[in-house]
Formats: sequence, structure tokens, C-alpha cells
Amino acid sequence: MYPVEIIDEGVAPPVGGVTIPEVAASIKTASVSKASPVDSTVLTTYPEDSSPIPLKWGDSSPESRGPIVASRYRDGLSKHNAIGAHSGSYCVYHALAVGSNQLNPEHVADYTNSQPAFSVPEQKEWYNDEDIVAMDAFGHLAPLLFGDTSVRENVEIKPTIAITKAHMQLFEMKDAVEKGRLQVDGDIVINRNGDLNVSKIAVEPVWYLPGVAKRFNISEEQLRKSLFEDTNGMYPELITRPDIKVFLPPIGGLTVYIFGDPQYVSDPSKTLALRIHDECNGSDVFGSDICTCRPYLTFGIEEAVKEAQTGGSGVVIYFRKEGRALGEVTKYLVYNARKRGGDTAAEYFRRTECIAGVRDMRFQQLMPDILKWLGIKKIDRMLSMSNMKHDAIVEQGIPILQRIPIPDELIPPDSRVEIDAKINSGYFTNGKILTLEELKDVKGREWHDVE
Ligand SMILES: [Zn+2]
Repeated sequence: MYPVEIIDEGVAPPVGGVTIPEVAASIKTASVSKASPVDSTVLTTYPEDSSPIPLKWGDSSPESRGPIVASRYRDGLSKHNAIGAHSGSYCVYHALAVGSNQLNPEHVADYTNSQPAFSVPEQKEWYNDEDIVAMDAFGHLAPLLFGDTSVRENVEIKPTIAITKAHMQLFEMKDAVEKGRLQVDGDIVINRNGDLNVSKIAVEPVWYLPGVAKRFNISEEQLRKSLFEDTNGMYPELITRPDIKVFLPPIGGLTVYIFGDPQYVSDPSKTLALRIHDECNGSDVFGSDICTCRPYLTFGIEEAVKEAQTGGSGVVIYFRKEGRALGEVTKYLVYNARKRGGDTAAEYFRRTECIAGVRDMRFQQLMPDILKWLGIKKIDRMLSMSNMKHDAIVEQGIPILQRIPIPDELIPPDSRVEIDAKINSGYFTNGKILTLEELKDVKGREWHDVE
């Protein structure tokens, strides 16, 4: 189906009926014309060499759906049913730990007491192959559901979701209590320090390739080819294993923060306040004033808490999509170009497009999966102005009843450039939408470099 030749020089490509161990052995014993670090390594596998553990995405029960097996270790080379590796981008650190002999690759995890701290009710969306395509609906139950399979088949089966609870301490919540915006109730807001009780869910990405392709209106083949070629040939099985439909991409995941009773999130009789937040380390953690990220995030948390305190539910979902998923290096290059080139709202998006080629790579099409997984039926108050997030959620069939912009007094002066440019391009506002001409007068701090 995909004509490629990836086997090392001097080794015949495997043919039908040849098993993986035989291929590995043939590569080990083959005489290669030059020394190669991979002369004893299986570079890829082919359908005819393999018997993957059955995996039917969206099937009618977890048992018939089957586990995600994404590891070559133990019998995984011939039995894995997913391309890529666990833990998102951290898979590379795992490899370093193994490579430097600090981790036994065949270590068997002991999951005693690691089970979810609260339950997430099953949803009908878990049982079809279209509603959820970017995470494993049973990722939090993997050790429970598939522990026996792991032993019987001698393969590694890992959770891709973990569910816990914690306290949260933020200066802004202390401030909100002091100024009377938040009330201490001893449960959601624990004390006058503004400490919050929070339920948390960490989710790693697991992609069902046909479903992801469909969200982007491209063919599965086109998706596989782009993922393979654009990562400099990182995952040959994307090409050689059209029979394997699941891919664990090396990207960041997401975290769900729930305020109030987690069971209310999927209860349509309860109101829901939601913020979808994409990572901005510079502002979220380090207080940069060039954007509205941390102020909007903490406003979102405060409003989520208020919703929970009035009998509803508050949810904040944090996606690791730094710098519009362009990364921090590109982001800082754009900052430099803006600050040296006359930082106006009229030029805001063009500066990103000049360097990155696009203005945004966050592609919100996969984002609503987590909402469906949580059982969210409607959003009463959406704490976001982004038209891309709004449209993606509504297109996936979840109505948004009200949109709440960031209050003007929370917008740092230097970030007016960003917010006014975004509002002009379609971000939601209750206030004024500046014209292109007016955007030229919205200026940020500029640099005056001394050579
Ligand atoms: Zn930011």
C-alpha cells in the first residue's frame, strides 16, 4: 500500500510469512558493508510479520475495544497495536533513562493504590469512533481492565489518564477573598488564604488516525504521510503499518481542573462554567505582561469557583500548546520582530505569519474530545473569547450559552496590542471592535536598541 524501503543496506526487505524475530535475526547476521549503529535493530515492522492484540476503536465495551499496546518490550514487537510511545514528549526521557542504563526497559509497573481518586461516569461518546479520537476513553482504567491481558500476552499496557485531587494556592485567589470577590465556604474555598480544593485529571494524547484525519477533512493516508515526512521520518510504521490505526504522538497533553463536585460536570441540570486555556509559560508562570494569558486563566479559575459555589460546576482545562503550538523559540522570535518593528495591533498577526508561516497551529478540532469524555452536554458560561475554540466546540455539538470576555481592568497595558488584534480578527467581545485603521494606533512598548 505504501511503497517504501527502510531496511538497512545489505538486508533484503521482509516478505510475507517472515516473523519479526526472524527479521531481527537476519538483520543481526547480515553482512553490512559499513559499520552502522542500527545493524542489529529492527527499523520497522510490516503487517505480515505481526499479530497485534485486537484493538477496535469505539467498540461497544472496553473488553471488545481492547487495550492500547505501544511498546516493543517483552513480546510487544510482534504484538503492539499502536505506533509511537507513551508519555507524549517525555517518551524521549524514558529512552534516555533506558539508554544510560538507569531504567530496566522490562520494568513491570506496580499500580497499587494509583487508581482514580474519583470516578468519571461512562458516556455514550466513549463507544463510537467519531466523538473521541484524540484520547483513550479507557486510559484511566488500563491497569484495572487490561492487567490480566498484560500478563497473559506478555506486553506492556500503561494508563494514559490519571485522576487525583489536590489543594491549589494562588495569589489571585487570596486577593479575591481579601477583596470580597470570593467567599470562604470551607469546602471549595478552604480558608482566608484562598486555598482551593480541586479535582485533577491528566491526559496524554492517543490518536485514532482515521478519526483525526476526518476532523481535518484529509485522508488517513495524507495524515500518515505528513506525520512521517514532516517529522523527518520519525515513525516509519505510520507508512508500513496501515493496519495499525492508533498513534501516540510525541506532544504535550492536557490537564482538567474541576472545582466543586466532579459528578456535576456531566449533569445537565447543573450549570457549568468552563475555560479552555492553552499554555503560555511566560505569562502563566513567569508573569510576562505582553499577553492576557495569566490574568484570563486566574479570572477563569475565580469564575469556575463561583459557579461551583452557587451549586454548579467549574472546569478549567489546560492544554500544553505553548505559543499557539509554535513553541517558545518561535514565540520569542516573534516578540523581537514586533518590538523592533513598531509593535502595533495592525501588524500583530503579520509578525507571526512572517516567521512561522501561519498565525496559529493550535488546531482546536481535537480539543472538544475531552469535553465529550467528561460528559459535558452544554456550557452555560464560556470563559474565553476565542472564536476558534467556540466554533470547534459548537461544531462538535456542544452548545455554548454565554461567552464571558476578560474584564478590561485585567488586561495589562502592553497586551492591548494582542487582545485588540484578536478582537478585530474575530475574538468575542461585549465592547468595541477597533477598525484596521484604529489598530495602527494601538501600540505596545517598543525597544530602542543601542548598537
Ligand atoms: Zn500569553
